[in-house]
Amino acid sequence: MRSFLIVALLFSIMSTGFSQNEPDPKATEVWEPEPRLVTPGKNHPSPPSDAIILFDGKNLDQWVGKDGKSAQWTVGEGAMTVAKGKGDVKTKQTFGDIQLHLEWRTPAKVEGEGQGRGNSGIFFCEKYELQVLDSYNNRTYSNGQAGSIYKQSMPLVNAAKGPGEWQMYDVVFIMPRFNQDGSLKSPGHITVFHNGVLIHHNTEIKGTTEYIGAPKTVAHDKGSLSLQDHGNPTSFRNIWVREL
Ligand code: MG
Repeated sequence: MRSFLIVALLFSIMSTGFSQNEPDPKATEVWEPEPRLVTPGKNHPSPPSDAIILFDGKNLDQWVGKDGKSAQWTVGEGAMTVAKGKGDVKTKQTFGDIQLHLEWRTPAKVEGEGQGRGNSGIFFCEKYELQVLDSYNNRTYSNGQAGSIYKQSMPLVNAAKGPGEWQMYDVVFIMPRFNQDGSLKSPGHITVFHNGVLIHHNTEIKGTTEYIGAPKTVAHDKGSLSLQDHGNPTSFRNIWVREL
């Protein structure tokens, strides 16, 4: 009994000493909540288990035209392709902050130059364009080439593949936030990998994409993803998002 008390006393002194003099590693352990399990796709970039599939190569069920009527782009050979003059298409579902995977291909037959070659684009919340363009041996303004945040920010590098080749964008898009009065609370940000190469690292979105003039602040909530009809038969496939 006596030896037990001595041991207990010593233990007490030791543990008290520990808490007073040494930082407790447990103090910074966070156990709850436990991160949710997500099974990665077998062959990247096939969609992970919690992805929202926007185009799986079969139909345009997740899309409508800009006017809200059925999407008129062509579907074939696992791809959806811009039908010239049929207008932009947009997702039925609206999104805020997302991770996006999308593959695109400019026409194998090279026609036009500069902005006229394989031009399309991905608009986040229908307002902010990540440019799609054949930027393989096709000089245009740097903040308008493939991977640019159109007329705002040029890509860090040109990671373009050639015409007729499938290319990938992997994007993290963080939507801007707005105050009640419509003023900007915090700007949007975008991170983009083009064919696995970082081309935007948390790039600030300056406002709406404008062909003429400066970007504007336009308050909005979640919005559709839209794809641009710029008159060139650019194709898309394997489009999925994860809401963040
Ligand atoms: Mg475009």
